Amino acid sequence: MAHSYDFDLFVIGAGSAGVRASRMAASFGAKVGVAEFQALGGTCVNVGCVPKKLMVIGSHFTEEWQDAKGYGFSVEPPTFDWSVLIANKDREIARLNRVYQSLLEGRGVKIERGRAKLVGPHEVEVTSADGETKRHSAETLLVAVGGKPSRLQIPGAEHVLISDDIFHLKELPRRILIVGGGYIAVEFAGVFHGLGAHVTQIYRGALFLRGFDRDVRVHLDQEMRHRGIDLRFHCDLASVEKLPSGELRAVLSDGSELLLDAILAAVGREPNTKELGLEALGVQVDRRGAIAVNDSFRTSVPSVYAVGDVIDRIQLTPVALAEGMIVARNLYGGAQAKPDYEFVPSAVFSQPSIATVGLTEEEARASFAVDIYKSSFTPMKQSMTERKEKMLMKLVVERASDRVVGVHVVGPEAAEIVQGFAVALKCGAKKSDFDSTIGIHPTAAEELVTMRERCPDPDVSQTVLHEEPTPRRVIRHHEF
Ligand code: NDP
Repeated sequence: MAHSYDFDLFVIGAGSAGVRASRMAASFGAKVGVAEFQALGGTCVNVGCVPKKLMVIGSHFTEEWQDAKGYGFSVEPPTFDWSVLIANKDREIARLNRVYQSLLEGRGVKIERGRAKLVGPHEVEVTSADGETKRHSAETLLVAVGGKPSRLQIPGAEHVLISDDIFHLKELPRRILIVGGGYIAVEFAGVFHGLGAHVTQIYRGALFLRGFDRDVRVHLDQEMRHRGIDLRFHCDLASVEKLPSGELRAVLSDGSELLLDAILAAVGREPNTKELGLEALGVQVDRRGAIAVNDSFRTSVPSVYAVGDVIDRIQLTPVALAEGMIVARNLYGGAQAKPDYEFVPSAVFSQPSIATVGLTEEEARASFAVDIYKSSFTPMKQSMTERKEKMLMKLVVERASDRVVGVHVVGPEAAEIVQGFAVALKCGAKKSDFDSTIGIHPTAAEELVTMRERCPDPDVSQTVLHEEPTPRRVIRHHEF
């Protein structure tokens, strides 16, 4: 006899992946429930991409005022009110939360408010804020609970903020220390510097943004220092003490001390898999707690699927959306799609920003002979301002096939430029295709189709960076 369940699909977590999977599954006619105990939209909408980008946009105005002088404007020194930025950001996020709610409800998805736990291969328990617990059954369960920022384990760690906290600070810290050398650390270094804070950023290794192209990392390092950010490498946070004045005293690994108003640890994110009931159910997780899935996102328990940051593949919203969509299409839309993690573009909204798609020079050289094309130039806008900032563009080409396998840009609107080139790379574009493409003049992006002179092959002994080897992104498809 066929089982009868409350739902065809019950999704745990209404973030990017969960909402997309729920909506798509419902649009194919599935009966869908989704549990969420926080605001709808998950990390990206509430404490990630969206509020961060709004803050990045806000923090650019300072240099816009400065640049305006070169174009004939006389600008009074602007004043900045943190509370206005936060209030307006909160209003926009609340609007997006409502949009997510209506998107789900519009498709007939039942939203269950509360914290969910898997209690069987087809059962979840959802406990609401007032302690009421409801049990739901579903033919398929989808875990899309995302991740959370990691915390430092040092004396005084309780005084150290994580990125979630930044979006609700009561005031702009005048002096901030940022620990870490990844996406979040460099992005917030730019935000706080742009808004007028004194920023010190420390990174434990030789050069931040490990995993990115070396030229990109060096370029951003120079530009951030040039802007006035106190960047310190081979440096870590040893301890923190809160002084009676309310200030924080940070002791660094080199023994130096800093007095600060805030310290942010941006030292990676970890999957939200504790207390989900995974272990009891036999859902296989890795050392970090990330759920292991096969190439259809099925876990070791056949009725349980997982997508998004909780599976620890690529922690990017558009990847989570694609994964959620694949699950819904495969289960209810008659598709048999597999994920494609080749040429996933990404951007770091640092200042200046970075965008990249494909292989770094180091990754490519490790596999085949390459031709490198590079250009560093002053963006046109800056030619009439006092700000002297360089833009970097770089192409990595496989010599034997002439195929462009990597595009790297550092500078204004890098992400807007690289998105289109990501299509070209996915289509297998060759350098000769780039060369035969007419540029749009005058733009920065035209540089990518006008680079003709390849860089001389490097003297490899000169280019070795003494650091941990770059982590190669390994996507593990488990056999379940
Ligand atoms: P990342 O993994 O990008 O960077 C973590 C950084 O913290 C690294 O520099 C790492 O150093 C350092 N680190 C790790 N542990 C410690 C420690 N115990 N003490 C000191 N330093 C430490 O993580 P983020 O938190 O910046 O971001 C998480 C993920 O979220 C990103 O990888 C990205 O996928 C996603 N994201 C994407 C954004 C975008 O698309 N624009 C924006 C923000 C986040 P080391 O290199 O030596 O390991």
